[in-house]
Amino acid sequence: MQLTGRCLCEAISYQIEGPLGPIFNCHCSKCRRWHGSAFRTRASIRSSQFRWLSGEHLLSRFKSSDNVTKTFCSVCGSNLASFYENDPDLVGIALGGLEQDPGQRPLAHIFAASKAPWHEISDDLPQFAEWPGGEAQVRATRQDDNP
Ligand SMILES: [Zn+2]
Ligand SMILES: [Zn+2]
Repeated sequence: MQLTGRCLCEAISYQIEGPLGPIFNCHCSKCRRWHGSAFRTRASIRSSQFRWLSGEHLLSRFKSSDNVTKTFCSVCGSNLASFYENDPDLVGIALGGLEQDPGQRPLAHIFAASKAPWHEISDDLPQFAEWPGGEAQVRATRQDDNP
């Protein structure tokens, strides 16, 4: 499966060779601020699955913590991919920019302990107070790693 996504001004576009890793709704304060919303719906993919198609020279970068660099469009401000200095094989993507249905659905709410007080989680998905078991465990649950 091939997925594409774009920023709001459409100057930056990217391509993902599916499938995505597990999709989570992240309620951490950084994601809430970054997206200006109740949560960020995101998935991890391998860096080999991801490539920029256009507008890479317009990317802005922000180091949000020691090991995380977030990218966004310098023209329209759309949040794009996250890169991890301590795990360069991984890319975090926001599902909001996708142009197709990836065919997968969110598996859980993560960092639910940090959720906005004005937002009620109203579905039956599992809720984890923080990251559920660390990056290694999440990667091990990726569909393409299953037997
Ligand atoms: Zn843009
Ligand atoms: Zn988050």
